[in-house]
Amino acid sequence: MRTILIATSNAGKVREMERAFTGLPVRLVPLSRLCGVLPDAPDIGEPVEDGETFMDNARIKAHYYRKAAGIAALADDSGLSVDALGGAPGIYSARYAGVHGDDVANNAKLIADLRARGAENAAAAYHCALALVLEDGRELTAEGVCAGTIRLQARGTGGFGYDPYFYLENGKSMAELSLAEKYAVSHRGAALRQMKELLAEIL
Ligand code: IMP
Repeated sequence: MRTILIATSNAGKVREMERAFTGLPVRLVPLSRLCGVLPDAPDIGEPVEDGETFMDNARIKAHYYRKAAGIAALADDSGLSVDALGGAPGIYSARYAGVHGDDVANNAKLIADLRARGAENAAAAYHCALALVLEDGRELTAEGVCAGTIRLQARGTGGFGYDPYFYLENGKSMAELSLAEKYAVSHRGAALRQMKELLAEIL
């Protein structure tokens, strides 16, 4: 059984990753539980995400945590890109309004920016880049994209981040989907399915 550190503190991403790797002989350890697994783990801090693409940042995180914790590390860098906003929030999705991980403020800014441009149904896409760095330094990468539309009204209580405003072709918001339904259509689901195959080949 291989142990893999999930290099994120985002509970929504952890849930989706745990579900994705069900059935593989791997034990996934979220950052929040690292101390329970490696009691002597020092305070490992966090990397500076200064890449220019989602994949740059996923690789930066995975290499950082693999080195710091000494076990395989899987990192995800993901975000939303809106055509009417020139691709923003893009790699700044988590801190679009200034404070990292403040979903309420990020959504408020997104909707305010779109209202200011009169963009009622804005074409958008979620992107997900995954990087897994194994104990020996080998690297596996995978990417996924999910196209949709940003509407100015929120719907649904599931998911996280921009999900209540992100609508699929069938008219449902991402936040109206169950975890299984989201996994079937999402950027992270697509990237995780690829990663699962790559990982299964080397286990
Ligand atoms: P990261 O943790 O730096 O990769 O930031 C990802 C950010 O992109 C999150 O904080 C969300 O704002 C947004 N995001 C990524 N994936 C999703 C998703 O599946 N649903 C909603 N928002 C997402």
